Amino acid sequence: MSTQQHPLGISFEFFPPNTEAGREKLIGVRDALAERSPRFFSVTYGAGGSTQDRTLDTVRRVRESGITTAPHLSCIGSEKGQLRELLARYREEGIDSLVALRGDLPSGMGGIGELRYANELVEFIREETGDHFEIAVAAYPESHPQAPSFERDVENFARKVKAGANLAITQYFFNADAYFHFVERARALGVEAPIVPGIMPITNYAKLARFSDACGAEIPRWIRKQLEAYGDDGDSIAAFGEEVISRLCQRLLDGGAPGLHFYTLNQAAPSLRIVDNIVG
Ligand code: FAD
Repeated sequence: MSTQQHPLGISFEFFPPNTEAGREKLIGVRDALAERSPRFFSVTYGAGGSTQDRTLDTVRRVRESGITTAPHLSCIGSEKGQLRELLARYREEGIDSLVALRGDLPSGMGGIGELRYANELVEFIREETGDHFEIAVAAYPESHPQAPSFERDVENFARKVKAGANLAITQYFFNADAYFHFVERARALGVEAPIVPGIMPITNYAKLARFSDACGAEIPRWIRKQLEAYGDDGDSIAAFGEEVISRLCQRLLDGGAPGLHFYTLNQAAPSLRIVDNIVG
């Protein structure tokens, strides 16, 4: 971990590239973002372990920056033996942070495996490896899409943190009040761990709309309408997106958010512009 971190406590997430060009590009992205001294980088993990090797390979390259790098790990579709082996491999490599998730199983991809929910994965990691790993888990200020109710989802979140998580990172959202409300409800259930907002820079409307539908993040009507009006004018979308997300970040930090986690989609510039706009 770098000793002189960015004062706002920022972190950046990557996905494992699947081409050589993507791998090369990520090195430049990593270096540009490392200059802002993040707390950590993280690397996503494909459903059912489908990117297991690419996630590890990407973590190795990203860690060369000297910044702590956490692989994401999901349990759905995996057996305990596979997870045990992967945890051992991570320990051998000197990895000491993880983002622990249930994940989503694409239809037709086999059984759910031995662990059904992220709280069971967190328990398993603690049973197998004690305090070796710092564990982050996911949080959903606008509710997980499968949750029967907001309250039930917060209870499930609290259970997952109490199973041994040190930190939570939220799904992205555009409504700061949803975050503050979620944090308040989680604190009322005894959750003390930091809950870091996940931030999605806006760069492409079609992609954003698709992701948001899939993960249950609401794009407010005024943002949707403005982005639609820009059509394929990428510069205007980027400028508007930068302003909206920078203001959101500022509001979150002013309201007590303990940091910001950026979904970079393996691009440096959109996250950097936002980081440089906000003040501590
Ligand atoms: P859980 O916490 O297990 O929750 C899933 C659902 O089950 C919720 O509706 C919850 O209310 C309910 N639930 C939880 N526990 C219980 C219980 N004990 N009993 C009954 N119901 C319960 N996906 C990937 O495939 N790879 C990634 O790398 C990845 N990274 C992510 C990073 C972040 C920061 C976030 C926010 C999401 C990420 N995802 C990733 C997506 C995530 O895997 C999905 O949102 C998935 O559907 C839920 O995972 P979870 O860990 O939040 O699940």
